[in-house]
Amino acid sequence: MPNGRIAILFDIDGTLITSGGAGTRAWALAFEKAHGKEVDIGEFSDVGMTDAEVGKLSFEATFGRNPTQDEIEKLLELHQSFLPIAVEESQGYKVLDGAEDLLSKLILDGYLLGLVSGNTEKGAHIKLHRANLNRFFSFGGYGSDSTDRSELTNAALSRAELTYGARIQLSQFLSVGDTPRDIEAAHSVGIQCVGVASHKFSVAQLAGAGADYVIGSLREGLPL
Ligand SMILES: [Mg+2]
Repeated sequence: MPNGRIAILFDIDGTLITSGGAGTRAWALAFEKAHGKEVDIGEFSDVGMTDAEVGKLSFEATFGRNPTQDEIEKLLELHQSFLPIAVEESQGYKVLDGAEDLLSKLILDGYLLGLVSGNTEKGAHIKLHRANLNRFFSFGGYGSDSTDRSELTNAALSRAELTYGARIQLSQFLSVGDTPRDIEAAHSVGIQCVGVASHKFSVAQLAGAGADYVIGSLREGLPL
């Protein structure tokens, strides 16, 4: 590790995998079960949001009022319960280009790998399970830690140190994500971010959003 990086944080959706709409499907089923109405969260939410934000915005847009805490918790719980089958049945589920090879190589090179995801912790592992990718990650920060992406990134940093067993300087972290929200969250906690143009944002858009490095896909490798 010539540049001194120790821990690398990966976003999930649009960076490692795409669930082919499984998350959206599980939300529709959750709203149907709780409120008797299928809701298309794609109309109300945006990529890179945490699960709780997605549920809250979709609820507000559909019912014209804020959900209570109980209503949000119920929806999150239902979403999580429908997610395994939605992921399993998703025809469009795929591992993004170069992801598995890169993760294998980073582990062999001795890096500590973690997740930073707006998914709840369980949701994150459900999404990675189908492709057998959970085995690479030893810690993470999740949508179940906070609805705020910079707070959940901070949670990941603390857990990285616990896992590593020693202090890790901010400059020794590197985060990898596919949206301007990932870049913003990384910078808000003081770490650098690699933008991966493998999903909805282009190289130019991610560079414009302030990414420290931009790559077209994980096949290109990380700037380590
Ligand atoms: Mg993403």
